[in-house]
Amino acid sequence: MRPFILSETNWKAVKDQKFELAVLPWGATEAHNFHLPYSTDNIMAEKVAAESAQKAWDKGLKVIVLPLIPFGVNTGQLDIKLDINLNPSTQYAILNDIADILSRHGINKFLILNGHGGNDFKQMIRELGSKYPDMFICTCNWYQSFETSDYFENGGGHADEMETSIMQYISPEFVRPLKEAGIGAGKNFRIKGLNEKWAWAERKWSKVTADTGIGDPGKSTPEKGEKCFKEVIRKVGDLMINLCETGINDMYE
Ligand SMILES: [Zn+2]
Repeated sequence: MRPFILSETNWKAVKDQKFELAVLPWGATEAHNFHLPYSTDNIMAEKVAAESAQKAWDKGLKVIVLPLIPFGVNTGQLDIKLDINLNPSTQYAILNDIADILSRHGINKFLILNGHGGNDFKQMIRELGSKYPDMFICTCNWYQSFETSDYFENGGGHADEMETSIMQYISPEFVRPLKEAGIGAGKNFRIKGLNEKWAWAERKWSKVTADTGIGDPGKSTPEKGEKCFKEVIRKVGDLMINLCETGINDMYE
């Protein structure tokens, strides 16, 4: 039983405990090429949340990790079998209900730990901030806490070398042999500004990739995954520590 994981702890331990920071890991349920499980984003976000919170807890800081939300925004994958879409407006409603409970119980710092590229909580946090002015709400995409090229030869972003290597390290029992994986070839837009990323449109996933992957997983190894994952825990752990240690009225220097 880890006292900083709400789904594992109990009322006896929680009722008189003052918590400084609540962390909500948020993933997605979606196809990840032929070799990774639908819950890839969930498994990784939950593990990053738990191991980072452990670092803060070990320093005596009171962080509590809430149960992960397993469905994300998959509006670009509605035709891919059993990708489960949660609309952004539904996500806002969920966040609003959770923020309400946290504020009732005096937990005024709230970190949404995101593990899925289709989720974007920034605008929701702006709106929630105006509803809960006494709370400090922030979000972090754990997969942006490091430079991909420092650890991996091939990028991509979905069921790619990074995701595959980390899954080979943290959950090898759910990873199929690499020879079963597709090559993760992703098509670009015909429109220059969209490829240069200063213009944006949602990609229709089934038109962009044949195997649902974007990024070649062929050079993945658990050793690469371990190196990268440990850096992620160092970075996200420090983020949680800094959030716990910094007063809500003392955020700027
Ligand atoms: Zn993923």
